[in-house]
Amino acid sequence: MTAVPTHCPYCALQCATSLLPADRPGAVEVRPRGEGGLCRKGWTAAEVLTVPDRLTTPLVRDASGELVPVTWDYALDFVANRIQSLQASHGRDAVAVFGGGGLTNEKAYALGKFARVALRTANVDYNGRFCMSSAAAATNRAFGIDRGLPFPLADLDGADAVLLVGSNIADTMPPAVSHLPSEGGLLVVDPRRSATAALPGALHLQATPGTDLALVLALTHVVLQEGLADTSYLTERVDDADALYRSTAAWWPERAERVTGVPALTIRRAARVLAAAAPVHGGAGAFILTGRGAEQHSKGTDTVTACINLALALGLPGRLGSGYGCITGQGNGQGGREHGQKADQLPGYRSIADPAARAHVAAVWGVDPADLPGPGKSAVELINSLGTTDGPRALLVHGSNLLVSAPNLASVRERLAALDLLVVADVVPSETALLADVVFPVTQWAEEDGTMTSLEGRVLRRQAAVTPPGEVRSDLHVFAGLASRLGCTASFPTDPAAVFEELRLASAGGKADYSGITWSRLDNEELFWPVPAVDHPGTPRLFADRFGTPDGRAHVVPVDHRPVADDLNGAAPMYLVTGRLLQHYQSGAQTRRVPELAEAEPEVFAEIHPRVAAQLGISDGRPVELRTARGAMVLAARVTTDVRPDTVFVPFHYGGAGAVNELTNDVLDPVSRMPEFKACAVSLRAAALP
Ligand code: SF4
Repeated sequence: MTAVPTHCPYCALQCATSLLPADRPGAVEVRPRGEGGLCRKGWTAAEVLTVPDRLTTPLVRDASGELVPVTWDYALDFVANRIQSLQASHGRDAVAVFGGGGLTNEKAYALGKFARVALRTANVDYNGRFCMSSAAAATNRAFGIDRGLPFPLADLDGADAVLLVGSNIADTMPPAVSHLPSEGGLLVVDPRRSATAALPGALHLQATPGTDLALVLALTHVVLQEGLADTSYLTERVDDADALYRSTAAWWPERAERVTGVPALTIRRAARVLAAAAPVHGGAGAFILTGRGAEQHSKGTDTVTACINLALALGLPGRLGSGYGCITGQGNGQGGREHGQKADQLPGYRSIADPAARAHVAAVWGVDPADLPGPGKSAVELINSLGTTDGPRALLVHGSNLLVSAPNLASVRERLAALDLLVVADVVPSETALLADVVFPVTQWAEEDGTMTSLEGRVLRRQAAVTPPGEVRSDLHVFAGLASRLGCTASFPTDPAAVFEELRLASAGGKADYSGITWSRLDNEELFWPVPAVDHPGTPRLFADRFGTPDGRAHVVPVDHRPVADDLNGAAPMYLVTGRLLQHYQSGAQTRRVPELAEAEPEVFAEIHPRVAAQLGISDGRPVELRTARGAMVLAARVTTDVRPDTVFVPFHYGGAGAVNELTNDVLDPVSRMPEFKACAVSLRAAALP
């Protein structure tokens, strides 16, 4: 084997790697390729290929309740028969499919097509609903197009200021830190002094959990009241700029200080730093970027909208060297939302409710548009309907570990247990796979070809370097095998290149147009969508001349602050905030199996302020019980001044008794249907370890 060029399996930065032969079957050595380097997760990613408990054969639960090895034919026959039986008794929507933002573009596309064409169910959604859906909803309504970063990440290099709202990239994607300003222009909004907030020169705005929206309204108020807005830009490129003034007029910094806890002086200073960096004031450029901290709230769409409104006030979006963007988290969080695994979308980032979109995609699929289901339920609503009287009786899960990553896990467990059939396709026995009736062992990054789309909308190749172990096959084989057994005559290729060819046609003319991207082009270049023709160079920067709205102008949507849904009360007087660690990725199913990473952060903990620890008689490392309206857990205290005295921080990467999503709230943002992972009321007390 010679060095195989590919990309890291984890986050949306999709760092370039070379895979070299290793001394064990199925193993490789990872090396960085090009500039930027890798974080420890990337360096150690090869460990996941050969973990001792790797799934290598299909499993079916037998009469005694054990998962036992079976052949692929047996497992596929078993699942197809159960699907046919359930749909015959309960209708097509009796079967649901749940996808993931880590799946390749081809798998995400095939999953959506499988649901709509082979199963003909409306019940399909994916875990991106937990990830960046609020930013997607906000950018779609403001700009008409959702591409996480509508500019290359390297554009940040020339900026004088970057405002990060709820994004801890120093832990989640460390190589990206090199793009942040180091001369005092980094502004970080986070209730916790994260590794990013602690970067040299950063101005940390340590807002009360759930108050980012009020803080950004106040920043915009200062910009407008101090005459710092780009009025020419507002006149030429923005629809209803007056709404900016109306929606922020009452958010003077002293009022915001009372809500957010951030001093009014700091708010004014941050607004002036950002404004001075804007081109309208002669600055080199300014960016506003949001992450899960801003988005995973019942008002996440409005918080991102407030950030976009601030960016518009300063004339940033669409201007070279400035802009607004979302730091997408999952490896294919961007591509995963473009190709039809969302409840409301078809490939090409098209609305499933749009008759023209349905006709286009149906023609590619060779089906009657009238046979395509309509919009389905969003992720949490889908989960909450499982096993209910009118809800799905079967669920197929690909690339998602619901029993760690979904909110309010007691409810999730109850709904999964009520199913007649749970099928999970995964690479390791995740917490969700261990509950399944049928498990399909599927390929992972270094074992498969495909395409991924980075947080910048850059489409790139994933390349196979090793042969998968045992009976492992691609998710594409699952879709093809089940579709044929269900009597579906539509094609479900198992060759990723063939799937990509079809995806190109299905995306043609859509917002995320891949029609000009060919497999062979990706051997030599990486292309930013849209790429509407094979001789088109791609589109690294969007919105230079017009936005993606019908009138070409950015739309101001007036928004206002509102409290956390499960807000503080006498019985639960502190905020629980969840987040990520340097050592782990998402549900931790992969990184908890990598010895170096697991040894560095082996178990869940709760960060607690020293004042609170003293009041409760808790010292560092001692057990503390956290209790919310949904459940309780006992975990070790980590006493630190990095958190506010009214806040407890717990990482969400752990399963079983360490799963903090036992406590989180599944109330939804009304627009994006994003659950409120990031803030709920919690009580604390000293406890004995279980
Ligand atoms: Fe992988 Fe992200 Fe780390 Fe890069 S930053 S090596 S893509 S986990």
